Amino acid sequence: MLDKKSFQHSSTLFLEEGDTATVVTTQRGPEFLHYLVPKGGVTLGAIVNVPVKSKIVLGVVWSNGQSLKTSYKKKRISKVLDLPSLKIEVRNFLQKSSEYYLFPLNTALRLCLNPNLNLEKSYSKYIYQIGPEKVVRLTSQRKRVLDVLSSIRDEPIDKLELKTESNVSDSVIRDLEKKRLLTKTLVPIKYNFPTVQVTFSTTLSKFQKKISNELRSKVKSKSYSTTMLKGVTGSGKTEVYMDAIAEAILLGQQVLVVFPEISLSTTFVERLRKRFKSGFAEWHSSISKKEKKRILNSVLDGSLKLVFGARSAVFLPFHNLGLVIVDEEHDSSYKQEEGIRYHGRDMAVLKGFYSQATVILVSATPSLETWVNVLERKYEGKSLPERFGNASLPKISLVDLRTSDRERNRWISKEIVEKISSKIKKKQQSLLFLNRRGYTPVLVCESCFQMLKCYNCDAKLVEHKLFSALLCHLCGARYQSPKICPSCRNECSYIPIGPGIEKIEEETRSLFPDARIELLSSDHYRSLEHLKECFRRITCGEIDIIIGTQLISKGHNFPFLSFVGVIDVDLALKGDDIRAGENTFQLLRQVIGRAGRFEISGEACIQTYFPEDPVMKTLCSDDDEEFMTSQKNLRENARVPPFGRMVALVVSSSTHEAAMNFAKDLTKEILPLQKYDVEIYGPADARISKIRKKYRVRILLKAPKTVSIQPLLKNILEKRKPPKAIYLTIDVDPINFY
Ligand SMILES: [Zn+2]
Ligand SMILES: [Zn+2]
Repeated sequence: MLDKKSFQHSSTLFLEEGDTATVVTTQRGPEFLHYLVPKGGVTLGAIVNVPVKSKIVLGVVWSNGQSLKTSYKKKRISKVLDLPSLKIEVRNFLQKSSEYYLFPLNTALRLCLNPNLNLEKSYSKYIYQIGPEKVVRLTSQRKRVLDVLSSIRDEPIDKLELKTESNVSDSVIRDLEKKRLLTKTLVPIKYNFPTVQVTFSTTLSKFQKKISNELRSKVKSKSYSTTMLKGVTGSGKTEVYMDAIAEAILLGQQVLVVFPEISLSTTFVERLRKRFKSGFAEWHSSISKKEKKRILNSVLDGSLKLVFGARSAVFLPFHNLGLVIVDEEHDSSYKQEEGIRYHGRDMAVLKGFYSQATVILVSATPSLETWVNVLERKYEGKSLPERFGNASLPKISLVDLRTSDRERNRWISKEIVEKISSKIKKKQQSLLFLNRRGYTPVLVCESCFQMLKCYNCDAKLVEHKLFSALLCHLCGARYQSPKICPSCRNECSYIPIGPGIEKIEEETRSLFPDARIELLSSDHYRSLEHLKECFRRITCGEIDIIIGTQLISKGHNFPFLSFVGVIDVDLALKGDDIRAGENTFQLLRQVIGRAGRFEISGEACIQTYFPEDPVMKTLCSDDDEEFMTSQKNLRENARVPPFGRMVALVVSSSTHEAAMNFAKDLTKEILPLQKYDVEIYGPADARISKIRKKYRVRILLKAPKTVSIQPLLKNILEKRKPPKAIYLTIDVDPINFY
């Protein structure tokens, strides 16, 4: 997605009073607005307040507006905020991402500057000290306030802290102020983070050291490059890239490390914390507004050197970014699927490109996109083949479900049961993997054989024993099992089909009544703290059998784990998505990689009806090349990314008719694109035709790689805005085709 075109080469960096400035605001509406520069002038990139209609909104001076014609009378920029300017590389990055993913530049800027944080406003605050007046008589409340102030001596204290410390109300403090028994002074707040402690690893093998040195010299070069760092679980990838982080910080550069959101709570991130101790920040959905403000300010002025973040961190306005690392780069959760759609990994590479930074994409099972970029020499590839220390890769065997006999209504094969028993005897851990939440994934009416479905969505209901309810995994609605079948109106019961993870737990408990069993799925942990506690028990060997969904696949070290049993991946493997094979392969490699990471050597057993499938064969061998080549050919023949361009347009509305009608109108407008070899599929009902009471109709566009489809589409979409109550979602390089 990179092209070498950069956006601004303007030599004018400063606009004088009376010049016209082009401003991008964080407000919905036109992307570029024009204002008069106020007294004192502004620099390009300055963060400003401007009037839009009757409101004052946050914006950034994007360029000088001389070449742009405007017909209306220009207003003046209301205020230039006392903040560092947004660097040209940040502005270029935002502009390119908005053009690529077809979302407004205003939206990109909103993601970057979080206007609701009021960035500048608390740059200073009042601190309290003992006042000049002599103390005469004091109530106990007033005395407490003065006691707190004298006990902290010259340490600055703000109102909230003073109130909490002395346990008094606002009015007590106001009274003391009036009587001049205390004074308040306005002081600037220091947002600075402590310095990061930089150390280099001393435990690397010769080969690891070589790669570490190569990455460090890339960082030193202060120019753009992307490197794929491949290595099996436990090969020491993290140690190696932490050296690159140390190098960048030593050079005074900023570093961004992105993780899939859930990994931010794992032992993996703990390791980074241990190594760098302090001076870094975490950026994800659950940090407080106050902390976000502190981070944003320190990222802007360059004082914060190291950020660990979820995908949204790629929008942060770094001052001098030198290194970007994407860990578990193949993880599909990097693709944002709600609201505006973008791919966190691709954005990270783009960010590195505009910042002239080193980018490292880390994975045990790289995505096909990355692998192809290495083949095409756009990225460099580095591999860490061996496992670190004494650990060896698990030995994998397949259980052919066509021939293996199981009792009726049993899902765990004899082979797996035997393995678990022997591991328990050796005081080692086993993991049973099934990526299916709940107790029964499908319930079918015994008289009409229809599936029970959600009323709001085109989705089957999943029985959850934990909640004693039927759940829709799309909208979260809960139901009680209906006494009368919604399809045939008969009073009947329902046939359960297939196991969910809760059923596997039930079966395991009956097979191993004395074993200590822990179930791990997103339904079963109440908080991140609770999850950490579960992982602690596992790491300490207090658990014999772990039963988990893909939640357990990411970045945890389980030192006692020596066996992984995979209950069922056939459904995922045979999904009609072009990525089904690749995704199943990546997931299983990761899950199986949990076993035998330390002294104990690992084993794994996969139950399947398709033992001849290339994914199964590749898992049992050590050679990924052949499999990746077959996946590459598959996509090349289908002319889908990375070998072609694709955009999905999903129209949704509360009636099917409205959604379909608009989709048909839109398709008519798009048809002329066929002359650029754009193929148009649809409009047709989306694979999931209803979510949250909204009907969904999809149009899919496929274009050769040489056609830049986004600007063509943008023109059309600007002319054909959806009417009220009809929603249009634009998904460039879609991953899920639901
Ligand atoms: Zn029925
Ligand atoms: Zn639903």
